[in-house]
Amino acid sequence: MVVPGTLEVNSSADIELGDNKSNRGDALGNTVDMDKVRSWVDRAERVVVLTGAGISTESGIPDFRGPQGVWTKNPSAEKLSDIHHYMTDPEVRKESWKARLGHPAWNAKPNAGHLALAALERRGKLHALITQNIDELHQMAGNSPDKVFEVHGTMRKVVCMACGMTAPMQKALDRVQAGEEDPPCRDCGGILKSATISFGQALVPELIERAMRAAAEADLFFAVGTSLRVYPIAGAVELANAADARIVILNAEPTPFDEIAHAVFRGPIGATLPQLLRP
Ligand code: NAD
Repeated sequence: MVVPGTLEVNSSADIELGDNKSNRGDALGNTVDMDKVRSWVDRAERVVVLTGAGISTESGIPDFRGPQGVWTKNPSAEKLSDIHHYMTDPEVRKESWKARLGHPAWNAKPNAGHLALAALERRGKLHALITQNIDELHQMAGNSPDKVFEVHGTMRKVVCMACGMTAPMQKALDRVQAGEEDPPCRDCGGILKSATISFGQALVPELIERAMRAAAEADLFFAVGTSLRVYPIAGAVELANAADARIVILNAEPTPFDEIAHAVFRGPIGATLPQLLRP
């Protein structure tokens, strides 16, 4: 059983950074106190963090696949995230604009988890912060934009699917509020969409490449609030592991990478991450 705030860890927990690989045991279920992980952070030079929707749930933004997730509660909502449905069905677009208008992200503030990652950057430890999130709460918490790799884009901008024009989301939301159910691009009349990567849309190859390169340079890697089921991003864990980085996973539910991780924490991220990253 995993007690919130404690962890499962493999038996390599006691060895030094750098020679972890050959000592990895399979004795998951050992516990180690948070001091051990803090000592890894103290000695690490290039910490890479991968975040998912789970880091923002305590800011009031639901995830997709967790027990309270948007898709878990309403599987048909997945349609709104599919580019094919979005481009071909005006009703899906109208629903999407309504969902954007009422999105909890507009009132959300960074929580203790986000703030802990900003503090990690101030300590000079953060090599890269790869996020699947589209809410920009990492930047609002104080992480510098050049450290944050937004591999799924941002919901705070719109993009025209025809001419590529980008603009602040708020301008489009103002038009929706004023009665336009599916506001077209003012430049060319094309379909507007949030500047996020929907299912069926290609990721930005250069960005993914840079994120993956950063993961391969990590000496300590945290995966935080992500189910690690979506590739190629989940592959960042594999790359860090292949580079002999220590792997720490914070997620309420099991992930496919728990067995290769040096430590797995199940407790709430907002309480756990600040304790692990405290100097
Ligand atoms: P996911 O929904 O697949 O998984 C989130 C995981 O976080 C779940 O396993 C859940 O158990 C865990 N979790 C939730 N709250 C937690 C907490 N407080 N403490 C510990 N664990 C917690 O998320 P994903 O893997 O990031 O994939 C969903 C995709 O949808 C993302 O790639 C992203 O593009 C998009 N999305 C983004 C946001 C956002 O920007 N905040 C929100 C929802 C979805």
